[in-house]
Amino acid sequence: MAVALLAIAWLSMPAADITLLALYLTVSACVSLGVSIVAYRFSEARKRSIQTKLLLAHLLGAFVLVANILVTARLMFISSHDLGLLLILLAFSALCSLAFGSAVARRLTGAVAHLSEGARRVSTGDWTTRVEVGTNDELTELADSFNDMVGRVNATNDAREKAERARRELVIAISHDLRTPLTAMRAMLEAMSDGLVSDPATIARYHDVMRGQVDLLSRQIDDLFELSHIDSGQIPFDFRDGNLGAVVRDAVEGIAMSAARRGVRVSVCGEDALPVRIDPVRFSRVIQNLLDNALQHAPRDSEIRVSLARTQESAILTVRDHGDGIEAADLPHVFERFFRGERSRSRERGGTGLGLAIAQAIVVAHGGTIEAGNATGGGAEFIVRLPVRWSDQ
Ligand code: ADP
Repeated sequence: MAVALLAIAWLSMPAADITLLALYLTVSACVSLGVSIVAYRFSEARKRSIQTKLLLAHLLGAFVLVANILVTARLMFISSHDLGLLLILLAFSALCSLAFGSAVARRLTGAVAHLSEGARRVSTGDWTTRVEVGTNDELTELADSFNDMVGRVNATNDAREKAERARRELVIAISHDLRTPLTAMRAMLEAMSDGLVSDPATIARYHDVMRGQVDLLSRQIDDLFELSHIDSGQIPFDFRDGNLGAVVRDAVEGIAMSAARRGVRVSVCGEDALPVRIDPVRFSRVIQNLLDNALQHAPRDSEIRVSLARTQESAILTVRDHGDGIEAADLPHVFERFFRGERSRSRERGGTGLGLAIAQAIVVAHGGTIEAGNATGGGAEFIVRLPVRWSDQ
């Protein structure tokens, strides 16, 4: 229809010729369609490469063109010389089209082969595989999506492996930490019930030791419970606009008495107004744990200094004591669950090894960071940074 309308507009054909043209075009279209359907069925009947299919499409195009021209030439009584020339030109353009089609097809087949080779490598477990096709079309988009997918799966696998490793290490640490006091208690209980220990002084000492171990175990289980609650997000944080300075002063007041009993002074200095988003109850636990540790390590008549400062982005809390400090080899591990330095293990009131892990989990939930180090001049120093809310000032 479109071609007939074009013929009317452009060639000003008489009505009879237009009818003839329309009839001819209809027949030609039907024959071409029939041939195309047969060729399509043939190409899909067996497994064939994209290259073969594209070449078939080009051949089909050339065939329809030649057939149409041959018939038209007959109707127009073109001389056999002109017709021969026309056919030679047609054969030449068909060859050009085939060569171009073949080149395009080879490029596409190469890209597809790249993609399937990439998929095969991934299926054998090579997650470093990346595919570059460079055809700048839908195949390039497919390759980009493929690379993106492999990258994401890779990241998920890494995270899962890391979590699994951490879980295994945690289970080992928990079983070790729970087994040690239990073994000691069982040995004492057996000694007492078998009558191996009978003098009252030793029995009283055993009771003391066992009470200490039970205390440690229940503290450890409480801490573990709190940590797993934070990890699982079961108890949501109650963040509100607050002042870090006020939270710190309250927590310091809470520990001042027990510090005084040990002959240790706790001083607070620095900025007072530090507007932050904070869960005051949870964050007090961070300060409490840091002060508790400082108190455990501080010698008599020394000072624990809590300083508050701020930069453009952060509110900074520093807790520094004058104890022996943290051994260099322990520094990278102090925030690990159940990690206890040698000195802490041998301390009379054994720590749970979870205090700093809890502190870190709470600080991270506040969008902050915590780091451990040794202060110049001796003693351990813990630095907590929280994002400041300047808009609230
Ligand atoms: P713990 O219950 O053993 O104190 P933490 O998680 O609170 O467990 O601390 C882990 C380890 O970090 C401690 O065992 C200790 O070796 C080290 N540590 C923490 N705070 C201090 C400090 N103020 N001075 C020296 N070492 C410290």
